[in-house]
Amino acid sequence: MAESKRIKKIAILTSGGDAPGMNAAIRAVVRKAITDGLSVTGIKRGYQGLLSEEFVEMNSRSVSDSVQKGGTILRTARSEEFKTDEGRKKAADICRKNKFDAVVVIGGDGSYRGAQSLSREGIQVMCLPGTIDLDIACTDYTIGFDTAVNTALQAIDKVRDTSSSHERCSIIEVMGRNAGYIALWCGVASGAEDILIPENYNYDEQEIINHIIESRKVGKTHHLIINAEGIGHSTSMARRIEAATGMETRATILGYMQRGGSPTCKDRYYASVMGAMAADLLSKGKANRVICYKNGDFVDYDIDEALAMKKEISDYQYEVAKALSK
Ligand code: ADP
Repeated sequence: MAESKRIKKIAILTSGGDAPGMNAAIRAVVRKAITDGLSVTGIKRGYQGLLSEEFVEMNSRSVSDSVQKGGTILRTARSEEFKTDEGRKKAADICRKNKFDAVVVIGGDGSYRGAQSLSREGIQVMCLPGTIDLDIACTDYTIGFDTAVNTALQAIDKVRDTSSSHERCSIIEVMGRNAGYIALWCGVASGAEDILIPENYNYDEQEIINHIIESRKVGKTHHLIINAEGIGHSTSMARRIEAATGMETRATILGYMQRGGSPTCKDRYYASVMGAMAADLLSKGKANRVICYKNGDFVDYDIDEALAMKKEISDYQYEVAKALSK
């Protein structure tokens, strides 16, 4: 692990898509860092706010009354400027000018790549996995996933009730443009008949139509399809399925409701432990690490090693989902 110069002042930002539990992570970083004698600057609006120097000094009271709140008190943004060489160099100069010894980044895979590029400009970073998509390879858990799947599941259960009453087919679109974890988990947990995920490239609409017809023959009264947003267009899919099967078919797109809301206990707890760990490592002079939950424990990895890891959805778990839908 790279030992680095003494870290006295850290900055913290949230970036990319917001996720419930980000506030618990910010709170933990701030309070543990302050306890360990570090000073903390909050950067508003992610990398864009770093470039426009939107800074706020943080103390223990800055994070009061935040642990239970969804969203991020630091706000978040996407930044095209930061993706350019010039933008990154400018960001690094701003960090040096403001004497940030390290920057804590809470975000998803894109934000991690941004942090890695900042580390290559000589700025020390520390990453926390904040994304509802669970699509960061080095970790089995990401802050926000648990809340998002439970929020989606509640909505799916409600649609399922009415779908059953009316003997309809329902297509429910959940988030996950490039990752099917939300769809897989919610699909299994809601008893969906079909789960469409971007990792399964063999997706075939005729197969779904045949499945609906077969299911009706064996007495199923409704047909629930969980569709990750990366797959097709749910509304037009519904029209085609209705035309082909004669079964009334409705599409429901859950959208941004999945990203909001008060974090679950799990998201608050994991975010708190991970945030405290991040501050702990920094106060010991260790940086360019990512905090993960792997094989049942909280661990940290070198950022370059972590970003070289690949994540694939479990074929076995996908097969289980299919077997249970019969
Ligand atoms: P998430 O972190 O939720 O995956 P994004 O992919 O939108 O969200 O990334 C958030 C921000 O991180 C982007 O707006 C951009 O500023 C920065 N970023 C993303 N990818 C890269 C990259 N390859 N190099 C540098 N910065 C990046």
